[in-house]
Amino acid sequence: MSLRWFRNNTNTLQDVSVVTEELKNLYYKRLLPIEKHYSFHHFHSPSYEDADFDNKPMVLVIGQYSTGKTTFIRYLIEQDFPGSRVGPEPTTDCFSALMYGDVEGIIPGNALTVDPKKPFRNLDPFGNTFLNRFQCVQMSNQVLESISMIDTPGILTAARKKLSRGYDFPAVLRWFAERVDRIILLFDAHKLEFSDELTRAFGALCGYEDKLRVVLNKADRVDSQQLMRVYGALMWSLGKVFRTPEILRVYIGSFWSEPRQACDHYQLIELEEEDLLNDIRNLPRNAAVRKLNDLVKRARLVRAHAHIISYLKQEMPTIFCKASKKHNLIYQLPVIFTKIQQQHRVPAGDFPDCTKMQERLLGQDFSKFKALKPSLMASLDKLLSSDIAKLMPLLQPQEQRKKSVPAVLDGEFLGTFRREHYKRDPFKEFRQDDDSNEDLNEWSVEKYKPKYDEIFYNLRPNEGKLSGTKVRKWMMTTLLPNSVLAQVWRLSDVDGDGMLDNEEFALAVHLIEGKLEGHWLPRELPSHLVPPSKRPVASSDED
Ligand code: MG
Ligand code: CA
Repeated sequence: MSLRWFRNNTNTLQDVSVVTEELKNLYYKRLLPIEKHYSFHHFHSPSYEDADFDNKPMVLVIGQYSTGKTTFIRYLIEQDFPGSRVGPEPTTDCFSALMYGDVEGIIPGNALTVDPKKPFRNLDPFGNTFLNRFQCVQMSNQVLESISMIDTPGILTAARKKLSRGYDFPAVLRWFAERVDRIILLFDAHKLEFSDELTRAFGALCGYEDKLRVVLNKADRVDSQQLMRVYGALMWSLGKVFRTPEILRVYIGSFWSEPRQACDHYQLIELEEEDLLNDIRNLPRNAAVRKLNDLVKRARLVRAHAHIISYLKQEMPTIFCKASKKHNLIYQLPVIFTKIQQQHRVPAGDFPDCTKMQERLLGQDFSKFKALKPSLMASLDKLLSSDIAKLMPLLQPQEQRKKSVPAVLDGEFLGTFRREHYKRDPFKEFRQDDDSNEDLNEWSVEKYKPKYDEIFYNLRPNEGKLSGTKVRKWMMTTLLPNSVLAQVWRLSDVDGDGMLDNEEFALAVHLIEGKLEGHWLPRELPSHLVPPSKRPVASSDED
């Protein structure tokens, strides 16, 4: 499993999927039978479907033209995607949902609205013009295994406002804003502008400020003084639109995987990058916590509902005066609620709104109600008292649990400038790498190695190895984003001892050169790149 910004999260992600799967099982096994028995869906919400559990957290990326939306997504998922042509002119005029799928391909909008496994079923009221501009790109990408991303058409600037889209753009934005877990709003620090359509788009986001993260992108293209001015102007403009501008978090960054420009606020950009990545990284866990909470809330409501229905059933006469008794019971509902709370010790907060319940009861045939079924109720109590409690520890934040092994490296590269030193493993011996054990498979870094060795020895290795701190200092001169360098580090410290020997270092430089030439970094180290001394010995015994 390799993913630069989920790399330390593999455990969390596995836990999240375990929890989601278990919640689904518990719902079908314990809750759904009671919901059906007491006609829960006639009174409250429809029953959950697979999609309610399986859907991944969604991140909506919006902004004006050429603020770097598509580039931001490519940076997060570490690859190009169909329709990701990038340029200064309007390039993405489509809503593209990027989702995980074993089969790669593009599903057009009209087909998406009828797919029960996708969360887009009620988008059809926005009409054909919109649906022709909506697509889902399925890719087997590791980031998309945990989150889905939605790329959007650039919001029009003043000069282009004559162009009509043929559909209600703000309404579509609002539809997405309501359903996604995170909204990333990008601005270009280099040319900040506010158009009418942007202001209207803001209107669509009102009420969802808690999901909103504002990014002042391309911040490396301006000097610190300009940045201050742009930041101030941005906050002032946002303050006019959102009533609670103080809760908006604005990240200053340069979100792409190419070298940045050197600037005074370079370190700030890196800290901000890590903050934002952390925020996105936590989405799967937060979404799982939310699902768990929703299920608990629902289970409590179901319990209260079962008691209400069975109480009414028990009070109904078998033959005479059914109608008048029914109205009597509805009238007395507030009293009945209190009775049930006392008799069965159900908290008042679990009960539905009394007036609404009275309205809904009017249309019901009380004689069809079911009596209390102890086995079902026992099953529900077990769900609330022990089943769900067992899942909680899996969703604890990472820090509170035992650290996974390679955590030191994260501290070294990503985010923390606080931790300059990490513990060296005293039990790991220095290994002599003198290429004595001949390997038949050629190492593709070999031919460039003399050049890389020069840098290696100039950095003054200690006992044949360079510390993370030294390597990091050198790597940062490339001006590549920290997240990219962290990935390089992770790929090249093959034995994971927190240091690079000459081969590992050569590999690191080789990867960086490739990156600077415009290649994507590999997700896993391909075998031809694995240094000879780090190759498994058992497989090839050919002396
Ligand atoms: Mg675009
Ligand atoms: Ca190493």
